[in-house]
Amino acid sequence: MHFISTRDRNFRVELSRALLDGLAPDGGLYVPEVFPSFNVEDIPKGSGITEIARHLLEPFFEGDPLHASLEEICEETFGFEVPLVDVGRDTSVLELFHGPTAAFKDVGAGFLASCMSRLNKGAQRSRTVLVATSGDTGSAVAAAFHGKPNVDVVILYPKGKVSPRQEAQLTCWEGNVRTLRVRGVFDDCQRIVKEAFADEEWRNQMMLTSANSINIGRLLPQMTYYAASTLWYRERHGVSPNFVIPSGNLGNALACLYARECGVPIGDVVLAVNANQPVVHYLQSGEYKGFDTVGTLANAMDVGDPSNMERLRFLWPDVGRIREKISAHQVDDAAIEEAIREGNEKWGQVWDPHTACGVAVRERLESSHWVVVATAHPAKFETVVEPLIGKEVEVPEQLAELLGGSDHAVECGPTLDEVKSALG
Ligand SMILES: *Cc1c(COP(=O)(O)O)cnc(C)c1O
Repeated sequence: MHFISTRDRNFRVELSRALLDGLAPDGGLYVPEVFPSFNVEDIPKGSGITEIARHLLEPFFEGDPLHASLEEICEETFGFEVPLVDVGRDTSVLELFHGPTAAFKDVGAGFLASCMSRLNKGAQRSRTVLVATSGDTGSAVAAAFHGKPNVDVVILYPKGKVSPRQEAQLTCWEGNVRTLRVRGVFDDCQRIVKEAFADEEWRNQMMLTSANSINIGRLLPQMTYYAASTLWYRERHGVSPNFVIPSGNLGNALACLYARECGVPIGDVVLAVNANQPVVHYLQSGEYKGFDTVGTLANAMDVGDPSNMERLRFLWPDVGRIREKISAHQVDDAAIEEAIREGNEKWGQVWDPHTACGVAVRERLESSHWVVVATAHPAKFETVVEPLIGKEVEVPEQLAELLGGSDHAVECGPTLDEVKSALG
């Protein structure tokens, strides 16, 4: 199996190279050259997600040095539950928030950590994963790579621009994870990362690599929870489910579409987006353009120019085809609040603002058999959720552990030189 660049079909690399590169050298995104066919009949009834992951991912690993470790990688990636919970009203919820940082990004980060620590085995020096974060990605990467051999992590986050709970999850690390509190905004952190990659000497010295959301290594493991939940749903209800996916950069949605292209019997795919315009505008007008980002309650979906749009348009260059494959519904902050407020009464559940977008969209859909993808635990967004439901949200154990740690971050100014000297 090879991966090709969205900007050059003739540029082909194997899995390991695609994972380490992140972005293809021509600036395109890596995509699978073909979609291998996945046959439901090959999966024993009652299989868990690790076994399903191994079946689905096997062809993507073919011909790659990581192939020999596929089983261990799947076990490490899914070291936590991914339950599909029936909540009534012809609806189930796929809970992707039982990982270490209580959001679905733990799946992709865990897979990358598992792969990268193996790719650098036996090397003289550790690779360094450098990440700029506006909140959630950095903690998922830190939790996933912490304690893994052969890889170090450096996280840059903007001082005073993340919530107290986000900050605790970013700063509690020691050992191979170092966190820098940058006196600046998120864009400064991102600029420093770009400058670091452009600084050839330092890049080579640190063996820099990235773990950002455009890495194909995030999409591949995400496909597996769509395959698993589809099989579980069919075992329980005898029919294939449709999915509502809260979306921003479209990584989670693309993983679902890739799984369906491989033959996983997934029904309709509906994207739930917040007040940010790009996807809905594109589907309506047929013309793609990026927008300025709008801040919303579902802030992990605040994306004005989704990077995975390039993968979507590569898959189906014709917007007419895309309209046959997906639809998208917009949910404003008032509707998010209403869904959270009504969560208990209507569903007996507490939703985080992102999942609430999905639930609000589910409520608009007539047909039956929907799975709403729950992307985060409500305890991560307690400042939004608690006033709306009038009670405290219990913090899951794994999250409480991170929140109870002490602050090991080092503060520095917003330049690459200051970052270098802070790292010593
Ligand atoms: C990142 C994130 C999303 C959006 O996922 P994309 O893959 O960027 O579309 C939704 N919900 C939560 C909680 C997230 O952290």
